[in-house]
Amino acid sequence: MAEERPNILDLRLDELEAALEALQEPRWRARQVHQWLLSHRIGSFSEMTTLSLELRRKLDEAYSIRPLETEKHDETAERFEGDEPGTTEKLLLRLPDGERVESVLIPGRGRLTACVSSQAGCPFNCSFCATGKMGYRRNLSAGEICAQVWALSDMLEQRGSQAALSNVVFMGMGEPLLNTRNVIEAVENLSSRKYRYSTSQRRITISTVGIIPEIDRLAETGLKTKLAVSLHTADQRKRETLMARAAREHPLDRLRKSLARYASKTGEPVTLAYMLLRGVNDSEEDAKRLLAYASGFFCKINLIDYNSIVNIKFEPVYDEARDRFRRILQDAGAQVTLRKSYGTSINAACGQLATSTMRSSDNQ
Ligand code: SF4
Repeated sequence: MAEERPNILDLRLDELEAALEALQEPRWRARQVHQWLLSHRIGSFSEMTTLSLELRRKLDEAYSIRPLETEKHDETAERFEGDEPGTTEKLLLRLPDGERVESVLIPGRGRLTACVSSQAGCPFNCSFCATGKMGYRRNLSAGEICAQVWALSDMLEQRGSQAALSNVVFMGMGEPLLNTRNVIEAVENLSSRKYRYSTSQRRITISTVGIIPEIDRLAETGLKTKLAVSLHTADQRKRETLMARAAREHPLDRLRKSLARYASKTGEPVTLAYMLLRGVNDSEEDAKRLLAYASGFFCKINLIDYNSIVNIKFEPVYDEARDRFRRILQDAGAQVTLRKSYGTSINAACGQLATSTMRSSDNQ
């Protein structure tokens, strides 16, 4: 049955080279096949017209080409930074094995950002996050990560939009640094001018809960991507209540050393993401702890509004509390930005992504 043939879109370049060798073809042919897969919307090997008929036949016997399918499209019109109107859009995408992920298009002043998932579900189960409630299903392949960007980019192109995607953030479902190898390959493919979609690595952000060895590994790659860490509190005990597994496995003191190494090795600031939760991490003492944590290495702080999630009992802070918290940081000289949340009405905002299967069972 055709469905039993492995999906060639799941292979990284090194795996494609091994696959070509197994088909008694030179390894360098893998680059030609890769070029076809990443640059064209092809549905069959017969369309790879620069390859010999014999190679196309061998590939067709051994592999299938199964792209992602869009199952659902939601959108919501909002006012963005500087009061510019824009529309946040969310795609529910079906993977070839039936798993589902969500990807979001986020407009902003002078940019259009693709927020992509790196795993189906997530093993971390952070207390404020809908994805964590799904449990872990599997890592996405590099091809499946890239395909989310293509799906959003194609959506814009098909409607004749003048605007093109400018940024990519790994802030969708899953923890990217539990799938580092495929995330790195996806970053390389998404930033390669040879392929269908290309953006600068500096416009790609990898967001992690703080997987220490993988942050160290990322620092060694030479990638120019930005790194954001979901800190949410600088108090180890509090962090263990908010993000139990991540906090216990990657304690704040060791994490800080790793972030300092990363910033010093790459010369780039690390973004400390801090989601403000009313009565949990929004006090003056919390702000001072955060300041102490952020001092002494190259970083900036990004305050985030909490987005309500069904069955999760946190509340966003009032505007005055957020402003007070921000002032404490700024008065002490910290570099602080505020990330407004968009897409809350379609569950597309930070922490809200989860496939509808999970949501409907959640509500039962
Ligand atoms: S916040 Fe990130 S790491 Fe935590 S459960 Fe959600 S997706 Fe996983």
